[in-house]
Amino acid sequence: MPDIDEMVIIVGAGLAGISASYYLSSNNIPHILLEKSSQVGGIWNSQKWPGIRCDTEIINYSYSFRPYTSDHYLVSGENISGYLHTTANELGITAKVVFNTEVSKADFSEDEKLWRLHTNRGVFKSRFLINTNGYFTDKPHIPEFEGLDTFKGNALHLFDVDDNTPIKGRHVVLVGSGASAISAAPAIAAVAGSMTILQRSPSYIYQQDNNIGVFVDIAQKLHHAGFSAPLNLVNFFLQLKSDLVFVIFRMFPWTGKLFFRYHWRGTVDDKTYDEHFRPVYNPWEQRIPVAIGLKEMIVKKKIRLVTGNIKRFTETGILLDDGRLIESDLCILATGFNLSFFKFEISINGQTVDTRKINFYKGMMMGGIPNYFQPFGPPHTSFTRRVETISKHIVKIILHMREHGLDTVKIERKQVRQKPRITPNYIMRDLSKLPAIYGTTEIPTIDNLLFFRFRKSDYIFSGADVAVSEKQYTAG
Ligand SMILES: Cc1cc2nc3c(=O)[nH]c(=O)nc-3n(C[C@H](O)[C@H](O)[C@H](O)COP(=O)(O)OP(=O)(O)OC[C@H]3O[C@@H](n4cnc5c(N)ncnc54)[C@H](O)[C@@H]3O)c2cc1C
Repeated sequence: MPDIDEMVIIVGAGLAGISASYYLSSNNIPHILLEKSSQVGGIWNSQKWPGIRCDTEIINYSYSFRPYTSDHYLVSGENISGYLHTTANELGITAKVVFNTEVSKADFSEDEKLWRLHTNRGVFKSRFLINTNGYFTDKPHIPEFEGLDTFKGNALHLFDVDDNTPIKGRHVVLVGSGASAISAAPAIAAVAGSMTILQRSPSYIYQQDNNIGVFVDIAQKLHHAGFSAPLNLVNFFLQLKSDLVFVIFRMFPWTGKLFFRYHWRGTVDDKTYDEHFRPVYNPWEQRIPVAIGLKEMIVKKKIRLVTGNIKRFTETGILLDDGRLIESDLCILATGFNLSFFKFEISINGQTVDTRKINFYKGMMMGGIPNYFQPFGPPHTSFTRRVETISKHIVKIILHMREHGLDTVKIERKQVRQKPRITPNYIMRDLSKLPAIYGTTEIPTIDNLLFFRFRKSDYIFSGADVAVSEKQYTAG
């Protein structure tokens, strides 16, 4: 299907692509989605490890235009994938996706004012490009471990673990204590012979009661009866709560430190807390892993925590710097991913754009690239909240351009100081290359109120005197 003209092309049909498509459709803006895989849902289809789920309450993580209701706050990856499939099907989005189509290069012609997207299925042309290609590398991050090849057991990344991985009865070491490790640990421990979480250094871990309360239950029932205000209110308070916790913990770290010590009291004694649960960094400087059932597993000794640095693998396990040997026949590396914002080359008039350290306005537009949007969520809370806000904002920009016969929109390329809101390893590893976010507080409660009001002076438009034919806006 090469050489078709579209008003907007969205690259990627994950959570962000579906959001963009919904708001474009709601405003009759013709578009298609190009998706390299054979289904919608993005990252929620590609990982199948035991315990995979969201850390954000699903009421807040699901779309405001189609809330996911459940007896539980946190739901499995499989359920989220199902929700995204159903949402895309019911809203007619799946029908707009051109599947098995991988974009390898996008070039913007300043003369023609259009994008040419080069794919394995030919070239697609559009006025606007919304890049929702995700922000993690396809392959996981695996640090170099000395002696890994001598290990007689199996060693694999959590990303490669699924229902077919033989875990039952095995002596598992799970390396890492980030969000994925803490989600996976109880599910793996439930079937393993023994289970050790091996962490280089502790993280703040929050254990969530996963059952919704009476009020949320009633709000959900009212929503199904056609009265959505109470559920919207719940959503607002969940957002406010996560924003407030983030701000308070960052401004007054002692509050967070006290909170977590108290949170683990009754599960572990003070000495154990200091050794395994008290990080060297302040609360919310890194993402806080959310546990379900971890405390119970620790109390029942079904999960053991070990904090120490890996010296090398041996035939029978992992040797730490301090001489301890952790015997194991299955080592699962929960060592995360690397960041990758651009999955294809971007050029303007054939000149490749250097995307390193590019200024990233509001998590929405990249400096100097015309008619280009890239929705990206804040680090401490639901990705969906800002992605939806950005989708609506993109629509406002496009409608403004339609009204005034404008051809291009961009923000200037400039140097912006890298100031990551959180500093986990996966950000710090690549900090010198990453897009630099600015123009946002990263607090959706405030941003959505104040920082996403459309002001034309925020953007550089061109072509005010160029009349745009109605056909260009209705084609597709
Ligand atoms: C285990 C896990 C748990 C998480 N939990 C939470 C949570 O609790 N809360 C939260 O807010 N966030 C969470 N996240 C972050 C999550 O990544 C985002 O919330 C969101 O799903 C990202 O959606 P996306 O559409 O931007 O990207 P993706 O889901 O990665 O989708 C990108 C899509 O683009 C396609 N694509 C990529 N390159 C190309 C190309 N060149 N051509 C064509 N198509 C392409 C891909 O195939 C994919 O379908 C979690 C992530 C993981 C991995």
